Amino acid sequence: AVRATGVHKAFGSLHVLKGIDLTVMPGTVTVILGPSGSGKSTFLRLINQLETLTGGEIDVDGEMIGYKTVERKGRKVLQTLNDKEVAAQRAKLGMVFQRFNLFPHMTALENVMEAPVHVKHMPKHEARELAAAELARVGLSDRADYYPAQLSGGQQQRVAIARALAMKPEIMLFDEPTSALDPELVGEVLNVMRSLAKEGMTMICVTHEIGFAREVADQVVFMDGGVVVEKGGPEIISNPQEARFKDFLQHVL
Ligand code: ATP
Ligand code: MG
Repeated sequence: AVRATGVHKAFGSLHVLKGIDLTVMPGTVTVILGPSGSGKSTFLRLINQLETLTGGEIDVDGEMIGYKTVERKGRKVLQTLNDKEVAAQRAKLGMVFQRFNLFPHMTALENVMEAPVHVKHMPKHEARELAAAELARVGLSDRADYYPAQLSGGQQQRVAIARALAMKPEIMLFDEPTSALDPELVGEVLNVMRSLAKEGMTMICVTHEIGFAREVADQVVFMDGGVVVEKGGPEIISNPQEARFKDFLQHVL
């Protein structure tokens, strides 16, 4: 599970997250909705330790991220994790961004092989098999030898998903994975995400795809101004209680 408790984040004097409490159970899909600037990306980046917390706590699998408790002179104190320990925690998480961020000089297959070989030191022949399997999972077996520039945006994003999956994460974080795509390419990426959800992957998705949220989410969270304004099952989309959520839905639907 991912458990955020009283999470705060400030960039200098800009207070972006103001006490986020959220639990994501294993095997469930959480969709985070909210207007631009509400802190959605910042929250995902905190979970993945791309940013450091200003206050509060995030646990992944019951383990506090970024810190460990050590005994010093008979007292328990918090100590920041070293790079290796942070890397071990981050290995549990796969992240997919709005922009695909593939290596342009590598084929789809090589992009997917890269981290298993260079981070996990997997033998190349093994990584190649793994990468081929992950590309098959996102429906791109026939594009393994294409370079990113030879792929559509939707195909590139599916390669990015395969690349994250190749590290065998327990949890996938998606930050608006379809919002840079032409409308006709959105569906193929959502289909991959839908099938991952069916396989039981734990997912936290920031997206404006309300249909996807309705259909796939176990939990829907509406953030605004750095707080969770409303959360519940997908039915809250059809029956929002808070004025700000109603207003937001009227604008995106
Ligand atoms: P969008 O829907 O546009 O992606 P968001 O909900 O993801 O928005 P964030 O990217 O989390 O919003 O940003 C929340 C606020 O934090 C914004 O005001 C943004 O300018 C600010 N912010 C984000 N990252 C930084 C940073 N590294 N330094 C300073 N301010 C930042
Ligand atoms: Mg964002």
